[in-house]
Amino acid sequence: MKYHEVIVVGAGLAGLRAAVETATDLDTAILTQVPPVRSHSGAAQGGVNAPMGNNPAGKDDSVEKHSYDTIKGSDFLADQDSVELMIGEATPCIYEMEHWGCPFSRTPEGKIAQRPFGGAGFPRTCFASDKTGLYMLHTLWERSVALNVKTYEERFVTDIVVENGNVVGVIALNIVTGDFEPYMADTVIFGTGGPGQVYGRSTNALISTGSGAYIAYKRGVPLKDMEFIQFHPTSLFGTNILMTEGARGEGGYLINNLGERFMSKYAPKAMELGPRDIVSRSIQTEINEGRGFEGGYVHLDLRHLGREKILDRLPGIRDIAINFAGVDPIDKPIPIQPGQHYAMGGISTDKNGATNIKGFYAAGECACVSVHGANRLGGNSLLDTVVFGKLSGKHVKEFMKTKKDRRQGEGMIMKTLEEQEKNRENLLIKSGTENHAAIRDEMKQTMIEKVGIFRTGAQMKEALDKILELKKRYESIRVMYKGRKYNMDYLRAYELWGMLELAHVITLGAIKREESRGSHSRTDFPKRDDAKFLRHTMATWTPDGPKIGYSDVNVYKYPPVERKY
Ligand SMILES: Cc1cc2nc3c(=O)[nH]c(=O)nc-3n(C[C@H](O)[C@H](O)[C@H](O)COP(=O)(O)OP(=O)(O)OC[C@H]3O[C@@H](n4cnc5c(N)ncnc54)[C@H](O)[C@@H]3O)c2cc1C
Repeated sequence: MKYHEVIVVGAGLAGLRAAVETATDLDTAILTQVPPVRSHSGAAQGGVNAPMGNNPAGKDDSVEKHSYDTIKGSDFLADQDSVELMIGEATPCIYEMEHWGCPFSRTPEGKIAQRPFGGAGFPRTCFASDKTGLYMLHTLWERSVALNVKTYEERFVTDIVVENGNVVGVIALNIVTGDFEPYMADTVIFGTGGPGQVYGRSTNALISTGSGAYIAYKRGVPLKDMEFIQFHPTSLFGTNILMTEGARGEGGYLINNLGERFMSKYAPKAMELGPRDIVSRSIQTEINEGRGFEGGYVHLDLRHLGREKILDRLPGIRDIAINFAGVDPIDKPIPIQPGQHYAMGGISTDKNGATNIKGFYAAGECACVSVHGANRLGGNSLLDTVVFGKLSGKHVKEFMKTKKDRRQGEGMIMKTLEEQEKNRENLLIKSGTENHAAIRDEMKQTMIEKVGIFRTGAQMKEALDKILELKKRYESIRVMYKGRKYNMDYLRAYELWGMLELAHVITLGAIKREESRGSHSRTDFPKRDDAKFLRHTMATWTPDGPKIGYSDVNVYKYPPVERKY
């Protein structure tokens, strides 16, 4: 059986940053479903925030101001101590990336350039053209190669193994051979990314199914604040490929079918650079009230920026618009609609990335520390991945200094592996009538229509009934391809169950939260209710569905006020 002191699951920015941290002292391996540079982090376009003050308009920026913008953006649900920790680490983390070779765009005097982003008082988003995530991902990947981190690609982790409250290993499906493989480890760090594919109209990669969050949940780690799903204001109409917030940061306008810059009604000061929850609701309101085009989109207009700026700052956006919408933004406005984009919630961790299972950590989008609360600011997620990836790695190194029992749990690991094999046999043997792809489509449609940008109790109850129906129908699915090697039919069917469980958690948490806060906007409870709901939702797994509880928010510095932009 393979053994490593540290196993990192996921090779996006969070996983790679954690591995780069532990690999200096500990034998570290990465298990990843896709090759590292195919992780969703590579799709990040707009940039990463740090209060560096390199832009003349941002020279008065500070850790305190960035922290306050983040807390206000979160609609006061973020833990304020965690936010301050993340922002305090931001500038050193960006310099670290720079020194490792990340080719950030520059100011004329050679400093790291910073562009304005939504919900931010200052231009503080560092960027590398409009492919920031890709460059950061390649930088960390190279770093992990230099440090001899062992990487097992095309391994889909299906479970963690826990013995006496300690993590002792993981089970992975080798996608190529079809074998389940046992891995022993003294610590496990999840950097498995978000659950965007639970929703229709998502900007996320097809692999963003939340499988890591489901595994943690099933093994007894609570999921925190899962009802807070971010809708990005500008995804390409129809395909929902992201059009970065950087397009508005560079000065792009949002225009309705009357030719109005309608954001003047909703966020008169911030205009197009309001926070994402508010801009998405504004666009959806324009569409719902008949001021959209062909009933379904508005325009993102970049024409006034001029050819040179578009080619320099937004070349990727231009390529995508040309290739997927047949529109060159130099000459024509881009048709956009809001799309599911990010999960503020995730595996509940402390500030070190630690969970309630000893030796088991999580960082990045799969985790909830919490720093994004009810609404994340653009550019703060890439920051979250590198800061908490690093801090998790650091804590693992401390933890390992005192850990006495190593290489534990062989029997338990083999027993779990046998269970997984048996479960697969049971799934492959079934000759049911249900098509799992159809169930997935119905789930995605239900979530975007009924647990979407605007929510009501009645609609969400319909969604809940539908999810329960889909879970029931899942029992009669049939996997058509019975082979072992590269059986993507089986893998898709397998991961669908976890997605249904997450949909259940999101919907139930949303029904029980009878208020509007950040991205959770209920027309039947339009006000924020701090007396009852200035609390984190904590969902724990039971065989009968999620049990919803609550935990305190750290609000030690900034008392909640009404958000105005
Ligand atoms: C199109 C797009 C643009 C974005 N732009 C920005 C931006 O400009 N700025 C910003 O701050 N944020 C942005 N975000 C958000 C940000 O990119 C993500 O939240 C962040 O990159 C997530 O990183 P991660 O390391 O947590 O996970 P990911 O990058 O999603 O990586 C997940 C990894 O886990 C692996 N994995 C998952 N499940 C398993 C399993 N069961 N077994 C084995 N491996 C598994 C995958 O193979 C992958 O390597 C954007 C998001 C999208 C979708």
